[in-house]
Amino acid sequence: MPRILIAECKQEVSTFNPHLSGYDDFGIRRGAAMLAYHRTVRNEVGGALSVFDDDPSVTLVPAYSAFFITSGGTLAKTAWERIAGELLDSIRAAPPVDGVYFCLHGAMASEGELDPEGWLLAEARKILGAHIPIVVSLDLHGILTDRMLQHSDAVVAYHTYSHVDFFETGQRAAKLLLRIVAGEVKPVTAKVTMPALVRGDELITATGSIRHAVEAAKAIEQSPRGLSAGMMWGNPFTDVPELASWAFVVTDNDPALAEREALRIANLFWEHHEKMRVPFVNLDEMSKIARAHTQGTLALVDAADATSSGASGDSNAILRTLMESACTLHTLSPIVDAPAVKMAFDAGIGATIITTVGGTRCARPMFPLDAHVTFQPKAKLFQGHS
Ligand SMILES: [Zn+2]
Repeated sequence: MPRILIAECKQEVSTFNPHLSGYDDFGIRRGAAMLAYHRTVRNEVGGALSVFDDDPSVTLVPAYSAFFITSGGTLAKTAWERIAGELLDSIRAAPPVDGVYFCLHGAMASEGELDPEGWLLAEARKILGAHIPIVVSLDLHGILTDRMLQHSDAVVAYHTYSHVDFFETGQRAAKLLLRIVAGEVKPVTAKVTMPALVRGDELITATGSIRHAVEAAKAIEQSPRGLSAGMMWGNPFTDVPELASWAFVVTDNDPALAEREALRIANLFWEHHEKMRVPFVNLDEMSKIARAHTQGTLALVDAADATSSGASGDSNAILRTLMESACTLHTLSPIVDAPAVKMAFDAGIGATIITTVGGTRCARPMFPLDAHVTFQPKAKLFQGHS
């Protein structure tokens, strides 16, 4: 009758975003509310619950869930201390358990603690004791620190980018945890660290060069002694000391096999890593390209300002350059600007407002951009089938 504790603490940060994340940016759930929510979504905890719920012998101990809905700036010290304190208190208050599933992202960073996940696992280990199995699920953009591996029994990571295997990753974590709790397997992990920060289309796991390493990892998981394996390449904007790229393999009590296979995955990555870069185009070149563009759609990407990687998303550099170069293309330019949005809502549909666009969150000089904006929403109709 294994008792399984579940805890979640997920956030990805860009340390270059000067806007700190706070406690209120997280969705916090505890106990039954945590289970009720996760049973309705196809995320990692949802996947793990689908496995635990299928096993009538499992008793669930839902402890704590802190989930940052998207990526953001470094977590403020007070927010981190509150979340970490609440999470650890929930483990202290729990009845004795036989195993723990930790759902983490891996690319968290707070003021004063640059490896929050490793710290949490170390503290959880002190509370739980040395012999309670802990399995951790991670985003492949997480930072796989030594401390995280030291204080857990095994990790599993997404195999897909773009991410479409949240649920399956949780299932893999849960199945592995139950096997460890049952005494069927004894996990041992090998990690290979590679000094590479990579981005771009070659990282798309279905079509890019990264697939060679990822497919090898998946094959190891299907082999008799393979328990978990993966490639992780971190979030390049989480500027912490251990940021790098990693291959890892977890085997059933076979360190030599784990080491050999982790090196094999690492070599499959390294063979292709030079391609995993995106050539940069500066703003002057960009405006030349835009002015010469006559047909179809042109995508101009400022990846370092992507909110999905934790940036402030309020740079207007591309839009400003296009306007200053008298570019006549119609432009769709997503820019974070809460005051401008509020002003638009206050003015109402059809009104014209005069506002600046961008530069409201980032402390760096952002050249407020004057704009006249008319808010004219259109409705799209969908025909019913009956
Ligand atoms: Zn990710």
